[in-house]
Parts: sequence; C-alpha cells; structure tokens
Amino acid sequence: MHALSKLKSEPGIWPVEAPVPMPGPNDLLIKVRKSSICGTDVHIYRWDEWAQKTIPVPMIVGHEYVGTVVGMGSEVRGFTIGDRVSGEGHVTCGHCRNCRAGRRHLCRNTQGIGVNRQGSFAEYLVLPAFNAFKLPDDVPDDIAAIFDPFGNAVHTALSFDLVGEDVLITGAGPIGVMAAAVARHVGARNVVITDVNEYRLDLARRVGVTRAVNVATEDLWAVARDELDMHEGFDVGLEMSGSGQAFSQMLHLMNNGGKVALLGIPSGDVRIDWNDVIFKMLTIKGIYGREMFETWYKMAALIQSGLDLTPVITHHYPIGDFQKGFEAMLGGQSGKVILDWEK
Ligand code: NAD
Ligand code: ZN
Repeated sequence: MHALSKLKSEPGIWPVEAPVPMPGPNDLLIKVRKSSICGTDVHIYRWDEWAQKTIPVPMIVGHEYVGTVVGMGSEVRGFTIGDRVSGEGHVTCGHCRNCRAGRRHLCRNTQGIGVNRQGSFAEYLVLPAFNAFKLPDDVPDDIAAIFDPFGNAVHTALSFDLVGEDVLITGAGPIGVMAAAVARHVGARNVVITDVNEYRLDLARRVGVTRAVNVATEDLWAVARDELDMHEGFDVGLEMSGSGQAFSQMLHLMNNGGKVALLGIPSGDVRIDWNDVIFKMLTIKGIYGREMFETWYKMAALIQSGLDLTPVITHHYPIGDFQKGFEAMLGGQSGKVILDWEK
C-alpha cells in the first residue's frame, strides 16, 4: 500500500510502499478515504525537540481520518464490512485503574495512532474495534475526517456550562475555531476569540463569533468592555493557543469564580500570577484528547443538530500532493488541510 512515513531523523515526510497491516483478533482493517493533517504531524514533519523525543523512526504517521471497514479479526462484534468509521486515536491499556473504572481518557498507558503505532497516512489502518466510531450517514466524510481535533474542541468547550456565559477563547487555530462554533451553537452569550493571525481570525468570524480580536493590534479588555458592555470579566476561558502570554492574559480577564479549560500545549515554561487564581477562586482544568466515548457521541449529535464546521476546512489535496498540504499548514494560512487517499 502507499503510505507517508517519517523515514529519517530530519525534517520532512516521505512516500513509501508498505505491507497492508494485519488485523489482530480484536482489530478492524480500515481502508482510509481521507486523512487530515494535525499540528502534531507538522511537529513531526519539522522534527522539533518533542518529535525527536517521541517518534520512533521509521513511522507511518497521521491520526485524523475517515474510512471504510474492509476486514476484521475473529473476536470483533458490532461492526460489518462496509461500515463508515472514524476512530479514537488514543489506544488505552484496559487494565490500569482508570481504564477499569471506564475512564479510558485517563489511561496511564495510552499509545497514539501515528505517534507510537502505525497511523492513518496510509491506504489501510489497523485499529482496535473498541476505538472505532461508526458514523451516522448524515455526518459528511470531510467532517468525519476531522473528528479527532473536533473532539479536542468539544471536550474542552463542553467541560463547563456555556449557556448564557461570556466565553473567551485564546487561539483561533482549527481547534479554537471549532470550539468557538460549539460555544455559539450551545448558547453562550458572547464568544470572543483571540489570535495574532488575521487569516485565522477571519475563519473564526465565519463561524459566527461575537468578536475576533487581534491581540497584536487591539486591546482585548477595551473591546470587551467598550464594544460588548462586559464589565466583570469572562465566565469561561478556553486556552487553545499554547501561548503563555495568552494564558496569563486570560487568567487576568476572568471574572471571580471563572472556569478555565486548558488544551493548548506550551512549548516552554509559563509564568502565571497565582494571585489571579487564588483571589478570584478560578477553576482550571487540563484537557487531553477526547472522553471515550462521550465526546464522540456529542460530536455526532452536534453535527446532526446543525453545527457547521465547513469554514474550518480550507484545503484539500490528493495524496500525491501531500507536500503542498504540509506547506499550507507550515505557512499558517490554513485551517484544516485534508488529504484524499482515494483516486
Ligand atoms: P494551532 O497551532 O494551529 O493554533 C494555535 C493558534 O494560536 C495559532 O493560530 C496562533 O497564531 C495562535 N496564537 C499564538 N500566540 C497567540 C496569542 N498570544 N494569543 C492568541 N493566539 C495566539 O493549534 P491547533 O491545532 O488549533 O491546536 C490548539 C492547541 O492545542 C495547540 O497548542 C496544540 O498543541 C494543542 N493540542 C492539545 C491537545 C490536547 O489533547 N491537549 C490536542 C490537540 C492539540
Ligand atoms: Zn489504562
């Protein structure tokens, strides 16, 4: 089969021919139709410090996809050949305390598809059937291909009650923009999103945020106070930039009793003013991945109830043009980039 592999310990990703993987007794064999490029894949492409520490070479990467079940192991129940699926990219151990309690997203022994085991930048993917999510017919392929990062957005956004609340989202990357769309859809009062990249702020405007603020050129609090008549601070904060500056500004602009969910991954040490946390009695929750499988059910229901994520998908390429896809991501002038595997 054709695949994209991290073949060498240097920047880049390379097309390869690899054997079709064999499903074990509890696995599905999935024929990949579309696979989208994640920020993680860009880290792997650039071969930064995190990637060098984490990714064994060679490795077929990629973990955001939609495909069709074309084979399965003898123990699999509940799936049929031809089922359209996406899947949870965190493969959990099943025997640690959290797994046994049903809190799979808190597994201590998580393995990542396209990180520690073969990924979805390939014609075929083997996935434990437990991890697969059967897609309702009214979820389009393009949207299903981005369910993994959409799940990050949904898990973060729905961590706290948003109905009637003033929500601040820092970072209008694909995940921040999807979180903004979710916050709007479920009934937040004001959804304010920040970035320093105008292209991305425009994507956020297309999903109907109250205000997209370029913090490089505008004063966020002046906008909230003067334009939006907010005088007490934000009720809920969703940190989706990984920027320490954005996080400390967020803490500073929260109302007393505010709730903050932290998804963005900082690249270094971040200094925060703990007085903001203590005297305002803030709640801060870290988010990793998606809840298995509550987040997946909620994602499907959000799409089925009319949530429109199409503005976040900005580029499509046939797999032969994968290099252009990575370049679009590296340039920052993109939302989600989808690679089509079917010819
Ligand atoms: P992204 O890098 O595409 O988006 C981040 C955005 O933040 C960019 O548009 C950037 O311009 C913006 N930004 C930079 N400095 C800023 C500032 N001071 N204020 C406001 N915005 C600023 O990332 P993404 O794919 O949308 O993911 C969002 C974040 O979540 C990333 O940090 C990513 O590493 C992280 N992530 C975490 C998990 C998890 O499970 N915790 C999963 C996926 C992604
Ligand atoms: Zn476990």
